[in-house]
Amino acid sequence: MANPRLHVLALGGTIATRPDASGAMQMGLGADDLLAAVPAVGGLAEISAETVSRVGSHSLSFDQIHALASKIRGLKADGVIVTQGTDTLEETSFLLDLLLDLNIPVIVTAAMRNPSLTSPDGPGNLLAAARVACDPWVRAHAHALGVMAVMLDEVYAASDVSKIHPTRLNAFAATQTGPLAALVEDRIVPMSLPVRDAIAGARAKLGDLSKASARPVAIFWMWLDEGGGLIEALLADPGHLGYRGAVIGAMGGGHTPERATETVYRLARTIPTVIAPRAGGGPLLRQTYGGPSSEIALRKAGVIWGGRLHPVKARVLLECCLRAGMSREAIAEVFDPFG
Ligand code: ASP
Repeated sequence: MANPRLHVLALGGTIATRPDASGAMQMGLGADDLLAAVPAVGGLAEISAETVSRVGSHSLSFDQIHALASKIRGLKADGVIVTQGTDTLEETSFLLDLLLDLNIPVIVTAAMRNPSLTSPDGPGNLLAAARVACDPWVRAHAHALGVMAVMLDEVYAASDVSKIHPTRLNAFAATQTGPLAALVEDRIVPMSLPVRDAIAGARAKLGDLSKASARPVAIFWMWLDEGGGLIEALLADPGHLGYRGAVIGAMGGGHTPERATETVYRLARTIPTVIAPRAGGGPLLRQTYGGPSSEIALRKAGVIWGGRLHPVKARVLLECCLRAGMSREAIAEVFDPFG
């Protein structure tokens, strides 16, 4: 049987850096350079490659990822690998997962250690991503797996993967669910399939977003003794500082400080506002605690319940909902199945 056709799309990131005259790492390498460092990939698949951009992922935009999704939809390939920076991988992979409904593996990978360091992880991650994309179990379950992230010999669901450390090599994890598979020797060992009903439901409601324009979403983190001053600043501005929606990284099972209660209620009346767990994921409470800023009161006040999504992923989903022109009620229906 012929080898699968894999298309590699390089966006930039640490994996694609090279040193300038001062020794500082700058964006520079393209898809062909990345592949040249891993000749073994050529033995696994028929490879085509494209350099889409040379930017750090901290500077990518929603629009760039929408354009990337359109490009991926138009490819004639049996699998797609996106290489990018690690900083926003948890957001870009989730956005691709919301936008793409494909029967081929789509894998995002990156590197923590740049190519000038001893034992950079980029080549190994790219080879691992190619192995995963060519694996028979992965290809048979590609639709159920959705977009995956492959880092340091583990495979994660895009909806669950988080960057949990700023610098170390093992910087990625799916803290709520664990990995979908592990790479060992030359094998992919399957461990689980992700539950993606809420994502499929969201995608069906979002429809075609290819012509819609960006809708900025703010995140407000709630902390000990937070009074809501930044939210007040947004509310005081006639244009809401340009934001069309907000995510609140709430404490515990979905709580905000009592002294910020009225401010949060006003925010929720002004722009669609989603509560997401500051703890980084996991279902929120819905009906346990009473009091003015408890989950019961916040839900009654019209705050949208974000469920198990990490606040940064809730922000990605809210941006899509706003792009789709959805009402607050329709947005709440999209978020509800996330728990
Ligand atoms: N700032 C870089 C980026 O996200 C970091 C990395 O790639 O690890 O592009």
